[in-house]
Amino acid sequence: MGVYSQINLIPADLLDMGSMIEAVKVSDPDEVYNLAAASFVSSAFEQPVGNAEITGLAVTKLLESIRHLNSDIRFYQASSSEMYGNSHTSIQNESTQFAPASPYAISKLYAHWITNIYYEAYHMYTVTGILFNHESPLRGLEFVSRKITNAVAEISLGLKSELVLGNLKAKRDWGYAPEYVQAMHLMLQQDKPDNFVIATGESHTVHDFVKLTFEMAGLDWKKHVKINKRFFRPLDVDLLRGDYKKAKKHLKWEPKVTFEKLVKIMLDEDIRRWKMFLDGKSFPWDAPLYPDESKIITRASEENINSSKNKKHRLIPKK
Ligand code: GDP
Repeated sequence: MGVYSQINLIPADLLDMGSMIEAVKVSDPDEVYNLAAASFVSSAFEQPVGNAEITGLAVTKLLESIRHLNSDIRFYQASSSEMYGNSHTSIQNESTQFAPASPYAISKLYAHWITNIYYEAYHMYTVTGILFNHESPLRGLEFVSRKITNAVAEISLGLKSELVLGNLKAKRDWGYAPEYVQAMHLMLQQDKPDNFVIATGESHTVHDFVKLTFEMAGLDWKKHVKINKRFFRPLDVDLLRGDYKKAKKHLKWEPKVTFEKLVKIMLDEDIRRWKMFLDGKSFPWDAPLYPDESKIITRASEENINSSKNKKHRLIPKK
């Protein structure tokens, strides 16, 4: 926040290589950080081809633009813990075998390997950071962390009474995004390019996240949480927990904000925003503008609803 006066924006489209060449040319950078992707895993199941083009193939277009214009530019690619998928390991590090379990994850894996290939083949300074889930009050409301903290804030202020979720058993390693950005920067300052896992080393279930957030607000989660099949994925990742030993050794990086602190930061900020909203103060913020999820029809929701016994709720009438 408050950065707009310090930055310049150059419009570019990941699907349009010409615009990327233009962006690299006019900005003449020393370092490029590619954080762009269609990053919501559920949506990638709805748009698998588009996801491959944006999350995967576009990275090659960007790397090619850099190679042709100035191959000394240092390049960071945002790789993802989703690439581990269901690797059947209790903790994942840089040597763990990938087993992607979504169109998003396989696209990220393509981008990961092509970035490594540009180092091997052309000796460009290209690195990947395998970042586990990283959250903050800036997180979009479609992700489970912010969906929970935002709903609990609303419930605690009497603005709503229900939170509808999917798979509560999934385990994730949730860290604090600002710290992960520092790790990205550190990666590009090393003598030699290398790949690093960035994580907290702790794993918690979605259920833990829910329970803790409600408890922090003095509420009983059982009175407010409902489960609906529309929020389950065709395939989910059961457990992610990152081993950040290599980053600690070489980057001297360590997470300071772990689970409880992260939940508190996010919940406090959502409560603060909703209180401002109730006080009639206007400010730039996403929540009031977000469409209600029940208004979004997804393939998963249709299949689940159409196959349910209650045909009254059929979204698309049978021909
Ligand atoms: P991801 O790890 O990048 O997929 O991050 P998300 O925050 O989207 O999802 C984390 C986990 O929460 C996944 O295993 C989801 O299946 C699970 N989950 C359970 N209920 C929900 C929900 O209502 N929304 C989302 N986004 N995820 C949910």
